[in-house]
Amino acid sequence: MLDYPFLVTPDTKVRLADYDPGYSGEYTHRREVRDERKANVERLSELQNLLHAEGRHALLIVLQAMDAGGKDGTIRCVMGGFNPQGVHVTSFKVPTRRESAHDFLWRIHRNTPGRGEVAIFNRSHYEDVLVVRVHGLVPESVWRARYDHINAFEKELADSGVTIRKFFLHISKAEQKRRFEKRLSNPSKNWKFARGDLRERERWEDYMAAFEDVLSLCSTDYAPWYMVPADKKWYRNLVISRILLETLESLDMHYPPGEPDLDKVVIPD
Ligand code: AMP
Ligand code: MG
Repeated sequence: MLDYPFLVTPDTKVRLADYDPGYSGEYTHRREVRDERKANVERLSELQNLLHAEGRHALLIVLQAMDAGGKDGTIRCVMGGFNPQGVHVTSFKVPTRRESAHDFLWRIHRNTPGRGEVAIFNRSHYEDVLVVRVHGLVPESVWRARYDHINAFEKELADSGVTIRKFFLHISKAEQKRRFEKRLSNPSKNWKFARGDLRERERWEDYMAAFEDVLSLCSTDYAPWYMVPADKKWYRNLVISRILLETLESLDMHYPPGEPDLDKVVIPD
């Protein structure tokens, strides 16, 4: 097993079997990271507020994982402090008839962030080279061409001022089983379970191969993929909060100046 680099270096072949989904770096217990995670989430909210106020940058966060991989939990625990004003979450489902009538990026592009906005994708255009590939929903020649289409699309977004960060939450098959069992035994989680999820689980190895191609072919300087060990939710949250923090801090944002001579303004009674 290798240490996680997190950032997938462009043009390197990733082998997921080399990385332990249960990895938690130098930590063994959630309490060791609680303070940092809390502080990171607070600072992230401040920075998102600044991004909104400054209105110069846009941030696109893409989350992909197997079912029960922690996409929803990440949004809640890491991005839950964001101001809903200026943040938009899109969950991409099986395409509707109208969506299917268009090219695969059509529904995606409509949901990308404008300046001052953060967009979070719960699943994304990558489904079109994941589930679509694994189930052969289109011929291979069609999905093969999509890696280039995706890179070109993301390049255009990045050139237009969108900062892109993509996270693959890496869970083990055993951990997925535990989480599915919780969904079955806990009535408040029943709604998250679909029998169809078991069909996807059967294709685990095919999905891993498809994810490996995604990570190997579509991690670029302008839209990097991060591989995050995700069996331990607390470590996953820590890693993602750190990466987002680093990203937003690096944007060098500033609150817009107020009108001149504000110190001379007196608010009448
Ligand atoms: P969930 O995220 O649990 O609500 O499930 C959404 C389902 O929609 C998953 O099984 C995805 O694989 C599926 N899905 C998302 N995008 C596509 C797509 N482009 N083509 C086919 N299925 C998709
Ligand atoms: Mg589901």
